[in-house]
Amino acid sequence: MKKRSLLIVSFTYLFASIIVLKVDAQITNIVNSVYQNNRAPLKTNPYVQLPLGSIHAEGWLKEQLVRMKNGMTGDLDKRYPLVMGKRNGWLGGDGDQWERGPYWLDGLVPLAYILNDAELKNKIKPWIEWSISSQKEDGYFGPDKDYPNDEKGVQRDNSHDWWPKMVMLKVLQQYYMATGDKRVINLMTNYFRYQLKELPKTKLDHWTFWAAQRGGDNLLVVYWLYNITGDKFLLDLAEILHQQTVDWTGMMQKGDVFKGYFKLHGVNLAQGIKEPLIYYQQHPEDKYYESVKKGFEGIRLFHGQPQGLYAADEWLHGTNPTQGSELCTAVEMMYSLESMLQVTSDVSFADHIEKIAFNALPTQSNDAYTERQYYQQPNQVMITRQNRNFYTNHAGTDQVYGLLTGYPCCTANMHQGWPKFTQNLWYATNDGGAAALLYAPSAVDIKVSDGQPVTIKETTQYPFNDKINFTIQTGKAVAFPLHLRIPQWCKEAVVKINGKDFKTAKGGSIVVVNREWNNNDNVELQLPMSIERSRWHENSMAVERGPLVYALKIEGKSNKIDNDTVFGAYNEIVPTTAWNYGLVSLKSAELPNQYKIVQKTTLASYPWTLAEAPIEIKVPAKKLANWQLYQGETGPLPYSIQEETQNLPVEEVTLIPYGCTRLRISEFPEVK
Ligand SMILES: [Zn+2]
Repeated sequence: MKKRSLLIVSFTYLFASIIVLKVDAQITNIVNSVYQNNRAPLKTNPYVQLPLGSIHAEGWLKEQLVRMKNGMTGDLDKRYPLVMGKRNGWLGGDGDQWERGPYWLDGLVPLAYILNDAELKNKIKPWIEWSISSQKEDGYFGPDKDYPNDEKGVQRDNSHDWWPKMVMLKVLQQYYMATGDKRVINLMTNYFRYQLKELPKTKLDHWTFWAAQRGGDNLLVVYWLYNITGDKFLLDLAEILHQQTVDWTGMMQKGDVFKGYFKLHGVNLAQGIKEPLIYYQQHPEDKYYESVKKGFEGIRLFHGQPQGLYAADEWLHGTNPTQGSELCTAVEMMYSLESMLQVTSDVSFADHIEKIAFNALPTQSNDAYTERQYYQQPNQVMITRQNRNFYTNHAGTDQVYGLLTGYPCCTANMHQGWPKFTQNLWYATNDGGAAALLYAPSAVDIKVSDGQPVTIKETTQYPFNDKINFTIQTGKAVAFPLHLRIPQWCKEAVVKINGKDFKTAKGGSIVVVNREWNNNDNVELQLPMSIERSRWHENSMAVERGPLVYALKIEGKSNKIDNDTVFGAYNEIVPTTAWNYGLVSLKSAELPNQYKIVQKTTLASYPWTLAEAPIEIKVPAKKLANWQLYQGETGPLPYSIQEETQNLPVEEVTLIPYGCTRLRISEFPEVK
């Protein structure tokens, strides 16, 4: 291997002190003295990620991560040995050479370091060691031998494809952010020199079309490395990667790709949508930001679903709430939004992350984190094995909960969702402070001001409750700004400091509390939530309150099938209570009286279940006898509002958070 000394790196990303930084003449645009912001000529970002391990999950979020460890994230090698066992190409074996090994690690690495779990760290080790030692003289790394693709369920060819390496780069980036292992910097520098030399001859789409769709993931790591080493060739490589990635900026500006069906692959869109704003760091022109905004508008209008995602089963498929949304789409869209949030400080991106995390994400895996769905539907009333009106059906298994049902990409890729959500709860600000941009029970160890370590504890039952408490723990009084996001759905937030009103703030803003903090100072943020209604397919109606979408509570019966030779064991759920309700049309002023909110006094350690749902909303509804099952899903959605519903009897039904449901209606017909 050709060694290249990294003389420019006179400090490490993790442990830089202000003294070292001041003597490094290379660094011109560091605003925060402790955490590395973008280097010139890249634009300065408002927020900077903290080292992995600085942010600790508490409460329900910790329980979620522990369930992942005890479930399939912790032992996918044992549950799925065919692909994740010793024969995997990323361990030097003759088995799977492609994306699935790196996918798993992309969630396992942050989980291991957030939980600070020795067992999980040991599990990561052979993958990291093999990847680093695989690097060739010319800078290439990863599997390099193709095998005949004749083994069912294993992807043994396209070992040289640029795409799976993009995932392993994200893995190594996180591993470095946790450990400071400099071999990662060396490997990336050599590999990116290899890309600079090879890409003009062997383009991103040479082996498969995935890499050209997903080049933004590669670009993001190139900028990250540039900020550490300052190697100018990385900016040249960035230009090549941008040119060879499909033109997300142009496509989303124009918007034709959203009109009609099947023009984009759902997961590619979830990944690609960030590319313009990643590149924007090198070229801060409005068109890149605008194209992303237009992209989200197009998705919402032509394929949108109320849980924050869109119909893509697997290709974009219209607005009907019986179309599916893939689990990979949920976790990749969250990662894209997290990446764009740091670059822009755009509150709508943070709101969107929470919408997916608190609605779509919990429901697509089972409580023990041992099974998952390939697709979820916003209106989902039969989780049974049968073909539905999806673009792909995988022998009817897309809807049921299993390990390998549908298609196994999600089994490998789903693990990044919650750990990365945790990692993005807190950021360093470019003015030496701390920012809470997403909310969940947590604690952060962060250096503020000129490097003073503080811990901030966040105690809350959010998103099920509107109060969030922060306690600052510091060895000595220290002045620094605390940034708090006020979501767009909040009309007016109240900030209190040590029990006294400090200020109020409108939704869609970031409040900055800049003061000297003493040990045990307390900030209370109150984000009043009101019931809102949003409009969807056939003018249907979704009920939202704060970051949560509410869905009809439907009781169900589970049915375990454990004899399928191709898909393994899986679970079906069929309804035992009625689902065919429309919600009674009400004026906004009538909602507080007619919609009764019932909040449980204590929050269960794992709240994302039908039984433990922390909040219920009782609402007036009418049963629509003609709205019936069709091929395992709800028949055509009655349009809103049909006058003929006027004389039907009113019943009270119960809505619970979407994330607590398995069977549900979330896009309701509105009735007279
Ligand atoms: Zn998938």
